[in-house]
Amino acid sequence: MTGKVFLIGAGPGDPGLLTMRAADLIARADFIAIDALVSDAIADRAPKSAEVVYVGKRASKHALPQDKINQLLIDEARKGKTVIRLKGGDPFVFGRGGEEAEELAAAGVAFEIVPGISSSVAGPAYAGIPVTHRSYATSLTLVTGHEADASTGIKWEALAQLDGTIVFLMGFGNLAAITQNLTANGVSPDRPVAVISKATTPEQRTVTGTLANIERKVAEANLPTPALIVVGEVVKLHDVINWFESKPLFGKRIVVTRAREQASELKRLFEESGATVIQFPTIEIAPPESFDSLDIAVDKRFNWLVFTSVNGVTAYFERLFAKGLDIRALSGTRIACVGETTAASLRSRGVIPDLVPDKFMSTALIPHFDADLHRVRIAVIRAAEGRDEFIDEMRKRGAEVHLAVAYRTVPVALNADELHDIDVVTFTSASTVDNFFSSAPSIDGALLASIGPTTSDALRKHGRQPDIEAPTASIQALHDAVHAETLRRGEPR
Ligand code: SAH
Repeated sequence: MTGKVFLIGAGPGDPGLLTMRAADLIARADFIAIDALVSDAIADRAPKSAEVVYVGKRASKHALPQDKINQLLIDEARKGKTVIRLKGGDPFVFGRGGEEAEELAAAGVAFEIVPGISSSVAGPAYAGIPVTHRSYATSLTLVTGHEADASTGIKWEALAQLDGTIVFLMGFGNLAAITQNLTANGVSPDRPVAVISKATTPEQRTVTGTLANIERKVAEANLPTPALIVVGEVVKLHDVINWFESKPLFGKRIVVTRAREQASELKRLFEESGATVIQFPTIEIAPPESFDSLDIAVDKRFNWLVFTSVNGVTAYFERLFAKGLDIRALSGTRIACVGETTAASLRSRGVIPDLVPDKFMSTALIPHFDADLHRVRIAVIRAAEGRDEFIDEMRKRGAEVHLAVAYRTVPVALNADELHDIDVVTFTSASTVDNFFSSAPSIDGALLASIGPTTSDALRKHGRQPDIEAPTASIQALHDAVHAETLRRGEPR
C-alpha cells in the first residue's frame, strides 16, 4: 500500500475556519507535520494514534529546513501512511506549498492539495475590511513584504499605479520600507492603511492610519506578529463594518473551572461572545469507588428519584442501560432534579422531571415535599461529596432515604501558566470553588462569577465575594450575567 500526502491549509487562526475536508483528513491522519501559525485547537484534532511533528519556525528552535521537511513527507508517505502537511492560511499563498508539491511530484509520491482560507482575505474580513468593493477597489494584489528592502522582486512603480487593494504578507518587519517605496513612487501619503495583528483570533488587533502615519501608530500600539498590512481605500470601511473586535466580550480572558467533560457549552457561549476561554478544570469526574449504592437506586423501587447534577443523570442511565433496562423501569416513580441543565439532560433521555425548583440547590427541594413522609422511599443520586441538608430533612420527616453515589469528583493537577490577565473566573459548583482556591491562583482584579447560591456560599467560605451570580442555574444564565456585568462596568480593555 502506498501512502499519500495532503497539503492542507489550516486557515488563518480561528479553528472554525478550517474546511470540512481538512477536518476529515486530520481526523484520520497517521502523520502530521504542522507549521508554526496553526492553532493548537486544530492540532488537537489529530487522533491520538497520529505522530505529530512541529516543523514551523516559531514553534521550536529546531525548525526543520525546507529540504528536510520535503524528505520527511516523502519518507512517511512511502511507509504507506496518510501524511498531512498542515500550513497556516492557504498552502499556495506564500506558503511554499508549491515547492513541496513539486518535490512530491518529482519523487512520485501521491498527493492532494486542500486549499485553506488565507489570512490575506480572512484577516481583512475579520477587521471589517472587504478586500474589494464596488465603490473603492476593483482589484486585489497580494505581495510578499519580505523583500521590500531588496532591489529585486517587487515592482513598486507598477504597484503604485494600482487603485485597488494591496495586501502585504510577511511585511510587518518592513513596514517602513513598504510605506516609503509606495509614496516614493507616487502614492498619496493619505492612502489608508491597516495593520491587522493575530487576525481571526481572540487577540486580534487592528490599527488604521495612512501611509504617512501608520508606522508611528503601529509602534505606539506595540502590535505582536503575525500581522498583515492592507493598503487602499477599503480600509475606511473598518470603522463601519468592524464586527469582530466589537463583540461584547472581545478581548476578555475568562476562566472556566468546570471539569473538561462538561465545559464545552460554557466555553462555546463565551467564545461566541468574543472572549478567550482559559480552561482550568480543577476537578475531573471519576466513577464511584463502588457501584453498589447506585445499583440499589436502579434495581429497587422508589417513590422519588432525586438528581442533583448532569453527571448523576449520566451515571444512573449508564447503569440502567447496562442492566438491559430502559425508562419503562421508572414508570410510577416521581423524578425531582436540581438545575435546568440537569432537567434538560433528563428530558433528552425521555424523562420529564416532576419537580425542578427555581434555585440551583438541593435545599430548594425541601418545601415541595410533604411534612409527613412516612413510608416514602427516596433515592438521592449524586456525588460522594455533597450537601446533606436535604437528606437529613427528609429523614426527619420520616422518609426512607437512600444515598446513591453515582460518581466522584477528583482534583486534577493544575497548570497555572495561562492564568494571567484574567478578567472573569466562572464557578459552576462548590467543588470547583474549593479546588480552585486550594491551588492559590493569582487572579487579582478578576471578577468572580457564580452559577448560584450554593456556589456563592462556597466563595464566601474562601473569603471571596461573588461579583456576579446567575439568576437561574443554567450555563446560559451564567454567560448572560457575565455579559451584563461586563457591559455595566464598561471597563476599557
Ligand atoms: N499561507 C498563509 C500565509 C503564510 S505567510 C496564508 O494564506 O495566510 C505568513 C504571513 O501571513 C505572516 O507573516 C503574516 O503576514 C500573515 N499571517 C498569517 N496568519 C496571520 C494572522 N492570523 N494574522 C495576521 N497575519 C497573518
